[in-house]
Amino acid sequence: MPRYVYDFVEGNKDLKDLLGGKGANLAEMTGMGLPVPPGFTVTTDACRAYLRTGSLPSGLFGEVDQHLRRVQNSTGRRFGDADDPLLLSVRSGAKFSMPGMMETILDIGLTDTAVGGLARRHGDERFAWDSYRRLIQMFGRTVFDVPADAFEAELAAARSAAGVRDDADLTAAQLREVVHAYKKVFLAHTGREFPQSAYEQLVLAIGAVFRSWNAERAVLYRRQERIPQDLGTAVNVMAMVFGNRGANSGTGVAFTRDPATGRRGVYGDYLRNAQGEDVVAGVRNTVSLTELATIDPACHTQLLSIMERLEQRYRDLCDIEFTIEDGKLWMLQTRVGKRTPAAAFVIAAQLVDEGVITLDEALQRVTGEQLAALMFPSFDTGAAPPPLTTGVPASPGAAVGAVVFDSAAAAAATEPVILVRRETNPDDLPGMIAARGILTSRGGKTSHAAVVARGMGKTCVCGAEDVEIGVDSCTVGGRTVRAGDIVSVDGASGRVYAGEVPVRPSRVMRYFEGERTAHGDPLLAAVQRLMVHADHVARLAVHANADTAADAARARRFGATGVGLCRTEHMFLGDRRVLVERLILATDGAQRQAALSALLPLQRADFEELFAAMDGRPVTVRLIDPPLHEFLPSLSEMTARVAEARGRGEDPGSDGELLAAVRRMHEQNPMLGLRGVRLGLVVPGLFAMQVRAVAQAAAARVAAGGDPHPEIMVPLVGTVQELETVRAEAESVLASVPGAPPIRIGTMIEVPRAALTAGQIAAAADFFSFGTNDLTQMTWGFSRDDVEGAFFGRYLDLGIFAVSPFQTIDVPGVGELVRLAVERGRSARPGLTTGVCGEHGGDPASVRFFHDAGLDYVSCSPYRVPVARLEAGRAAARADGSDSR
Ligand code: PEP
Ligand code: MG
Repeated sequence: MPRYVYDFVEGNKDLKDLLGGKGANLAEMTGMGLPVPPGFTVTTDACRAYLRTGSLPSGLFGEVDQHLRRVQNSTGRRFGDADDPLLLSVRSGAKFSMPGMMETILDIGLTDTAVGGLARRHGDERFAWDSYRRLIQMFGRTVFDVPADAFEAELAAARSAAGVRDDADLTAAQLREVVHAYKKVFLAHTGREFPQSAYEQLVLAIGAVFRSWNAERAVLYRRQERIPQDLGTAVNVMAMVFGNRGANSGTGVAFTRDPATGRRGVYGDYLRNAQGEDVVAGVRNTVSLTELATIDPACHTQLLSIMERLEQRYRDLCDIEFTIEDGKLWMLQTRVGKRTPAAAFVIAAQLVDEGVITLDEALQRVTGEQLAALMFPSFDTGAAPPPLTTGVPASPGAAVGAVVFDSAAAAAATEPVILVRRETNPDDLPGMIAARGILTSRGGKTSHAAVVARGMGKTCVCGAEDVEIGVDSCTVGGRTVRAGDIVSVDGASGRVYAGEVPVRPSRVMRYFEGERTAHGDPLLAAVQRLMVHADHVARLAVHANADTAADAARARRFGATGVGLCRTEHMFLGDRRVLVERLILATDGAQRQAALSALLPLQRADFEELFAAMDGRPVTVRLIDPPLHEFLPSLSEMTARVAEARGRGEDPGSDGELLAAVRRMHEQNPMLGLRGVRLGLVVPGLFAMQVRAVAQAAAARVAAGGDPHPEIMVPLVGTVQELETVRAEAESVLASVPGAPPIRIGTMIEVPRAALTAGQIAAAADFFSFGTNDLTQMTWGFSRDDVEGAFFGRYLDLGIFAVSPFQTIDVPGVGELVRLAVERGRSARPGLTTGVCGEHGGDPASVRFFHDAGLDYVSCSPYRVPVARLEAGRAAARADGSDSR
């Protein structure tokens, strides 16, 4: 029979799958001898069983009894006791942290009789009744879905009857009345009395936490964060400690380094005389942790030493939650802390310097997504007006948008918006996802808004206390900002500006552009160090998709070691489009030859520039692959033009012939039509002209002392016969150009049939480059042009996709074709070069897959080259575990 309950003394930090992150870390701290209140964890196995069957597994109850007895023994209190009751907290804790997404219930075990015992033990009636009313409220809301407003209304009524503004000013007698009123609310909404059995409360609470795994906001959060939906949560049951026992008590949250910048030194918030939830919810303003040194020097010293030990144990930035009850420190939680992208790089480099981790490990502490976020622009503060206000810089970035005051409006907006709230709670998640930036007037760096925004890489300023927020406007410094007004929010400095402030490129981007050095800048130095190491260990090379010399030059600055895809059809847009049109529509050899002769010198000049920009490096020139509809005049326009001419009694002249030709060539599904190699085989001389231009350009570069390495790539091949035909012609053209260097001829693999017959195709190909855009389109039978707008949103909502397969490679489907083609291609032609040039080449998760699949390179847009380099290094460091520190 499976075991469902583990005492904190039994687990450790590596048991996150079973005990969830919080439970595993509580166990680790207990094992370290830190002051953790006694308790136990109900496993994720139990949650999965509950979600499957709808009831708690039967073996669970006996185990809970047994572990409860242990907690009673170590606290010397009994659960449900009338004289000195043990109270418990019940908290969710999944494998991956989901801040505020699931449920917590405090003060479990209070009943009509136990409340008196609690009052006597603490000598504080008010505290006991306040705890009881909090329990009924949390329990009612969480276990029985009693609307929060129903309780809030009673509390507000009590405040106004007592003539006070703050709950803290209600007396014990008044709170007892609130408890009576709450019990009535409970009865009215649930049809039953508030449970007077402590044990029943506990069992119901555990079930409710399990159910909260599937709450809408939790499902949405997991989809956003790509957390699997079937993991389930553990439940942590722990003896209550009280931070709200007066001035000698309090609660706080702390980080072992600054999670925003990575700066060394502890950072945190402390709230006197409060329960833990009050800090995280950001509902009251906190003091800095350094003030705890004055408030309670002994606890402060103890806390600092615990934090140091935790960092040593976890070898990373940790965040913690703690409570001080009457001068005694209790650790309620720790975990490896979330951090901004900048802090991630800075901390990883610091930990290497401190000898805590290796450079390989440092690569695992950062991600391509974080690097991409650092390449975002920031505000040009020189051009900014004086700020409207300055709040806490909680999550960096530069966000400009129209103000909205509620999350539904943010979620519904079609233009960029800034969500402005007093504070946020998990119900605001859809609005936070939709907004460009978030501004709150309450709470610190550890408030819900801050934690969630950082996790999403979204700009956030919180705790801008001088902003008075109303329903559809706010005032700050005598100014009114209305819904729809534009504001600019600077998540790096905490400043908020009225109107649109111009943005400027990021420091990291300027560094990659070569416009500034890393010297004296901890962030740039960290980025440089990790990039150097990534390049050193990477097995995958990173090339760029570049069609112009300017793109190739940028790609080179960003560290690309070749051009993996030059889309030659992009060289025929604008003024030149008409030449391609003439070529395609030519009805005789003379017309065709004229068009080709006009195109040849243009192509040659383009290639010369490109080869010069990538001198010494491979440049893969793909022969033209124009979806015809992009290069021919529109059928409907031509039809109208001819009809109008005829209507006026005029001869449409050449328009009539053009219309006939366009009709002849018109396709219902251009993406599946006369494209790529098919067009090259149908239009005589087209590919030959391009091959000649490549060879002549390369010869010219050689003559000029350059070192060109062109390659020719044939698109959309489905069968080896297509490739053989093109290859034979290309080889004879190449042989006819004197002075050209050797030029390899390879193919794209972007039609499923090409992947399946890769063994045959490899016989005629010097290299394969996976065109995963088309391969995705054709494997799924999706039109790349249509489906993202048509139904992907719905598929993402339904969880059919965790992410668009055009963004991240679909490993089991399209990825399998890639693996198979690599294997068949290499066994037919050992040493075959393989790469990828679809959009996936710059996507972090996909790069990891291409490494695993054994490709030689990825090719992506120039701006994504640094991200791909980092991910290529991470994949290799992870796979080989090498340490070249
Ligand atoms: C591809 O299909 O992945 C590819 C790179 O070619 P294109 O996007 O130009 O069709
Ligand atoms: Mg393609």
